[in-house]
Amino acid sequence: MKTDWSKEEIAEIYNAPLLELIYKAATIHHKYQDTAEVQVCTLLSIKTGGCPEDCAYCPQAARYNTGLQVQALMKKEEVLAYAKKAQEAGSTRFCMGAAWREVRDNRDFDHVLDMVKGVNELGMEVCCTMGMLTEDQAKKLYDAGLYAYNHNVDTSPEHYADVITTRTYNDRLRTLGNVRKAGISVCSGGIIGLGETHEDRIGMLYTLCTLPKHPESVPINALVRVKGTPLQDNPQTDIWDMVRMIATARIIMPATMVRLSAGRAEMSIAEQALCFMAGANSIFAGDKLLTTPNPGFEEDNLMFKLLGLKPREAFKDEKVIGIS
Ligand code: SF4
Repeated sequence: MKTDWSKEEIAEIYNAPLLELIYKAATIHHKYQDTAEVQVCTLLSIKTGGCPEDCAYCPQAARYNTGLQVQALMKKEEVLAYAKKAQEAGSTRFCMGAAWREVRDNRDFDHVLDMVKGVNELGMEVCCTMGMLTEDQAKKLYDAGLYAYNHNVDTSPEHYADVITTRTYNDRLRTLGNVRKAGISVCSGGIIGLGETHEDRIGMLYTLCTLPKHPESVPINALVRVKGTPLQDNPQTDIWDMVRMIATARIIMPATMVRLSAGRAEMSIAEQALCFMAGANSIFAGDKLLTTPNPGFEEDNLMFKLLGLKPREAFKDEKVIGIS
C-alpha cells in the first residue's frame, strides 16, 4: 500500500466535489473489500475517569468537572460476562479502555493481561486502549493474545497542543511504533470537531497514511460535546465533514478498516448509510462508547437489515492474502 502520499495529493482528494469524492471512495472500497461487510466492535470502559491527562474533549480527565462516576479497574469475571454478551449480539472485536496516562508494570496491568487472555479464548479479536505503552509492555500484551491496540493521534501535529498539553505528538507516535514492533495490529485515528481547520484534518490523515505501514483500523470520531469539558460549546460536527473525512481515509488507505466511531448516536440511519457508502466499514456497537451514548445492538441490527449489511467475521485479515 502507498505510504508516500504528499499533503498536496491528499488535499486534492479531500477537496474534490463531494459526490465525486464519494463515488471514488465507493469504487476503491469495492475493489479492495467486501462492501456488504461491516466490522462490529464493542468498547467497554474497564477503568473509568480520574485520568491525569488534559485532553480537552474527554470527560474522563480528572481536572474537568463533568459529573462522571469514577470506577476502579473492573474484575475479570465482569469483563468476560460483558464480552460474551457482546459476542452473542454479533460483535467480533472487543475493546477494553482504561483511563490511564500510560500503562504501568503493576498488578492492574497483570489483571489486564489476564482479561486479554480470557477474551481471546472466547474467539474474539481483543483490543485495548490504555494510553502510552513501552515496547516490553506491548510484547507482554501480544503474548497474552492481544490482537489490536488503539492509540489515536487525535488531530494534526500542528493542532495537537491546542487540545492536549500533557503529552506530545511524538509520544503518541512512539507508542504506535512499539505496538507495531510487537506484532499487534494498529488502530489509530482521530476526532473532528476539535476546532481544527481543514488543513489539520488533511494533516492528521497524512500522519496516518505515511506511517511505515497503514494502521489496520482508523477510527473517525465526531466530537461528542460533554458539559464540563473545555470543548463543550464547540459547534456540532457537520455530517458532510464526516463523510468527506471517511471518503478520503478510504481512498488513501484502501485496505484499512475505517471506523465510523463516536458521534453515531446523533446521526440518522440515512446519514450513517452515506458514511458506509463513502467507505466506512466498521462500527462500535453497544449502547455506550466508554462514557458517551451510542446506538444499542438492536437498533444496529435493524439498520444492518435495512441497508443489506452483514457483520464481518473475526480474524478475517489472517485469511486475506496479498494485503500489506
Ligand atoms: S482521552 Fe484518554 S488520556 Fe486523554 S484524558 Fe481521556 S482517558 Fe485520559
